[in-house]
Amino acid sequence: MTEAVADIAVIGLAVMGQNLILNMDDHGFTVCAFNRTVSKVDEFLANEAKGTKIVGAKSLEDMVKKLKKPRRIMLLVKAGSAVQDMIDNIVPLLDKGDIIIDGGNSDYHDSNKRYDELKQKGILYVGCGVSGGEEGARYGPSLMPGGSPDAWPHLKDIFQSICAKASDGLPCCDWVGEAGSGHFVKMVHNGIEYGDMQLISEAYHLMLSGLGLGYEEMANVFDEWNKGELDSFLIEITANILRFKDEKGEFTVPKILDTAGQKGTGKWTGITALDYGIPVTLIAEAVFARCLSSLKHERQQASKVLPKPTANPKELLKEKKTFLDQTAKALYASKIVSYAQGFMLLAEASRVYNWNLNMGSIAMMWRGGCIIRSAFLRKIKEAYDNKPNLLNLLLDEYFLKAVGNSQDAWRQVVANAVLLGIPVPAFSAALAFYDGYRTDVLPANLIQAQRDYFGAHTYELIGRPGVFLHTNWTGKG
Ligand code: NAP
Repeated sequence: MTEAVADIAVIGLAVMGQNLILNMDDHGFTVCAFNRTVSKVDEFLANEAKGTKIVGAKSLEDMVKKLKKPRRIMLLVKAGSAVQDMIDNIVPLLDKGDIIIDGGNSDYHDSNKRYDELKQKGILYVGCGVSGGEEGARYGPSLMPGGSPDAWPHLKDIFQSICAKASDGLPCCDWVGEAGSGHFVKMVHNGIEYGDMQLISEAYHLMLSGLGLGYEEMANVFDEWNKGELDSFLIEITANILRFKDEKGEFTVPKILDTAGQKGTGKWTGITALDYGIPVTLIAEAVFARCLSSLKHERQQASKVLPKPTANPKELLKEKKTFLDQTAKALYASKIVSYAQGFMLLAEASRVYNWNLNMGSIAMMWRGGCIIRSAFLRKIKEAYDNKPNLLNLLLDEYFLKAVGNSQDAWRQVVANAVLLGIPVPAFSAALAFYDGYRTDVLPANLIQAQRDYFGAHTYELIGRPGVFLHTNWTGKG
């Protein structure tokens, strides 16, 4: 009879699964490895897993027999139908109280559905966001588990052992909430990542096309920024990337085609924001900026015929140091807006689904291991510690002050970029949001009237909530 020796099984031996298994093994857990193409199990055991206590399974039945109860099975297979196929095959082999964890980038709608379906069968489902790529999976990812709360006591030790630790030693993993909330939080994380990358690339564009800086000089600026409030993984790698030279001793970035791809989680964040009516404008702009970048052929044609602005960068940006300082401030203020928008979306989903998300602990989970890790997330945690029901991050004392100190510089940067024709969609979307959010009376009264004029949609009067009027604006008919 096969002995139940393994603490957890991991299915999927591509890069993420293999690395997570090795990470679990490093931390003293016995892992059973399985893969649809079973030959990969033997290859893994003979190579990467050689000398470890990792065990392999030849079939799902074999894997289930090797697991201690309640069985913990983590899927790291291709997101989409592969997850459902695997779940359908495993469930008949399990007992009530066993746990299935989906560690892939699944759509949170699917995770909500799986949570409900598996609950009916007595199986505990967990959708776990995993961030940090292959390096994170191997040495400490940010983990965002959500689903059946009864599963958490059985996972906490493993997950909090293998995850990244922030600079104060605290784990970058905590329980997120029920149903598909773990995958929702991961989706918003990825959207924020799109936003951060776009903001940094706009700063780079301003330095390159506005100030005419060289690559080494730009790398030095990002190094410098990384020592202050912008301290983050993405700023750090940007400096390294800009400085990088190929085998010919030439800078690599200017040789890379300027079209950015995407896998879809940024787009999902934008779609979800539209579905819930939350103005997550910066992430949406970041997704559209990638779409625009991929219209390379059209842009090449347009660049030959569409008139350029007349402003001269040398006259506008006379003070290099001043403009760089202003750009750093614009980047910081825009980043604050981006996170404020991301947390608005989290708050709305929490309300809609009754997830009771803990915003401070989400910020903690992103402090290490993941792509958006930064010193700044500590400030977000502090903001929610100070006021758990904070209406908006922008209203926190620290962020309010930070944006206040940056806003003149931010406006200057956006204005100069507009005059010079350097596109800064994320900087300017953030600023437009900020100005809209702090404006007491917006022109939407006119929109109400227009809708009533052409469509009899009615309008509400100031001071008379819930009273809807219709006017015959033309006096005809
Ligand atoms: P992947 O390339 O997304 O998927 C390959 C794995 O999925 C293989 O083990 C493959 O098995 C299995 N698979 C594919 N179709 C299947 C099916 N119909 N039934 C069962 N198994 C199937 O692998 P990955 O890059 O390691 O990513 C795993 C998950 O983590 C994905 O959801 C991904 O989005 C997410 N993720 C990836 C990263 C990253 O940096 N790569 C970061 C965070 C999250 P075979 O060997 O049999 O083909």
